[in-house]
Amino acid sequence: MLMTPTASNQILAEGKTKVLRPGEQPEEVRVTFKDAATAFNGEKFQEIPGKGTLNARISAILFELLNQQGIPTCFVGKGASENELIYRNLAMIPLEVVIRNFAYGSVVKRFKFEEGMAFKKPLIEFFYKSDDAGDPQLTDEMIDELSILPAEANLDAIKLLAFQVNEVFLNYFKAINVRCADFKLEVGLDKSGNLMLGDELSPDNFRFRDADTGQVMDKDAFRFDLADLTESYQELLRRLEGHPGVPDTSGLSNAYMASIRVQSRKNILNPESKTILNALHTMGYASVQELRAGKEFSLKLTASSLIEAEKQIKTIGEDILSNPVIEDYSYILRLA
Ligand code: 5GP
Repeated sequence: MLMTPTASNQILAEGKTKVLRPGEQPEEVRVTFKDAATAFNGEKFQEIPGKGTLNARISAILFELLNQQGIPTCFVGKGASENELIYRNLAMIPLEVVIRNFAYGSVVKRFKFEEGMAFKKPLIEFFYKSDDAGDPQLTDEMIDELSILPAEANLDAIKLLAFQVNEVFLNYFKAINVRCADFKLEVGLDKSGNLMLGDELSPDNFRFRDADTGQVMDKDAFRFDLADLTESYQELLRRLEGHPGVPDTSGLSNAYMASIRVQSRKNILNPESKTILNALHTMGYASVQELRAGKEFSLKLTASSLIEAEKQIKTIGEDILSNPVIEDYSYILRLA
């Protein structure tokens, strides 16, 4: 029977595994997780009763975990039914951000890494979210050429967010004896232009293995018929629900590298910039039309996490290294 959509059940968007409808608040959406399992760009498909609920419950736990750590996500809360979550409405960026801690899947095929080997440092890769094009891999230059990022977003901020998420997950999953091998994130901007994590945090987007036995606890169970999907997801949920939260990492001391760049604001007449520009012109370089003098600081610092390191870098950049009245600062932060 065809139903006329009312304001609340009208479908805003529908993907392979989720349906979006308007939320009760204007900036929110209701996300219903379907009972559909798909793989290989939709070539393999199966209805699996209860899968939507499992993915909604697992996503809610993982989003909450990130929110508690101060990582911005779309997650507002649970919905009216077990397979529904409430999200902040985001303008999604068509990027798949993949983080890899151990070699599995396409990275093994493409680069011949030994399956299961640990990478020296987490790797990040970007893919274009386009079913028609088959989600091809992107370089930074291709991201620029395709104008994938809106003006308010930048790739360094997306990388930092993804590595911060990874650090929280590595600590958390270790505590429930799960190897978090790799995962795919999607990000978007809220109405104020803030970068946030969107999509879902379910085993559909992750590779999880039992840390001792190597037992599959993710969609590879379905992709390659390795195990029963429902049992695998249920086992993961059981471990997540049995664990009280993120282990306390405040005593840890990790090393990070930061580069802080300070420059005079574009519309501010900076005497140093003017002097150098005049000197260049006098020396015959009339071709130089604009010049903004700046300073770059390279720092190595220790912190309990990337989230804590970023807080320090922001304070140092804003309060100490720059004069906020006339200068802008930007930073790149990564694992040492
Ligand atoms: P791979 O590139 O090895 O196939 O995938 C790396 C990770 O990203 C895996 O955890 C995989 O589940 C996730 N991933 C990559 N592309 C997609 C996609 O199009 N859909 C989903 N659900 N996950 C993906």
